[in-house]
Amino acid sequence: MADRGILVVVSGFSGAGKGTLMKRLMEKYDNYALSVSATTRDPRPGEEHGREYFFHTKKEFEELILEDALIEYAQYVDNYYGTPKAYVEKQLNMGKDVILEIEIQGALKVKKKMPNTLLLFVTPPNAEELKHRLVNRGTESMDVIESRLSRASEEAKGMSEYDYILINDVIEECVDNMHSIIQSQHDAVKNR
Ligand code: 5GP
Repeated sequence: MADRGILVVVSGFSGAGKGTLMKRLMEKYDNYALSVSATTRDPRPGEEHGREYFFHTKKEFEELILEDALIEYAQYVDNYYGTPKAYVEKQLNMGKDVILEIEIQGALKVKKKMPNTLLLFVTPPNAEELKHRLVNRGTESMDVIESRLSRASEEAKGMSEYDYILINDVIEECVDNMHSIIQSQHDAVKNR
């Protein structure tokens, strides 16, 4: 039977380019599974239910909480976000490394429950670039962008909780670094 996979949390400021990074990681290497979260936020143009997120009403989300169907959940700028348990467990048991792209409160909850979890934090090269990416994405109003930027400065305080901080400047380099770090965590877990 394949060894159980590793759980990898990827967090980072809104606009750090995590989405693109994850996409490249999946395309380039084949032992990863990306968890699809549940959320109460509205879909952005082009997003599909079951692909980027499972989009739920607040009532539906609260039912998932009551059913204990989530590994963790958190509130982020007025919406709930959570990680469905069943998919993650299944993929880990199949030997896949499962990536959770979640924010810091959820990351810390997962690490507490599953101490072998690897916590990675992705940041753009500087703050100007962060604002530029958020504005250029063009999917959020200025109000929401401001809330996300102030949340980013909150999250910066939690960066020291992470195992590695990755600077996402040249995307291919960042993807390869991420892959090497995850592979070395396999050895570390085996030797524990
Ligand atoms: P966005 O609305 O930009 O897709 O995501 C907002 C924030 O929620 C991001 O920091 C993202 O990493 C985080 N997030 C997405 N899914 C989850 C989840 O399942 N749990 C938690 N705790 N955070 C999540």
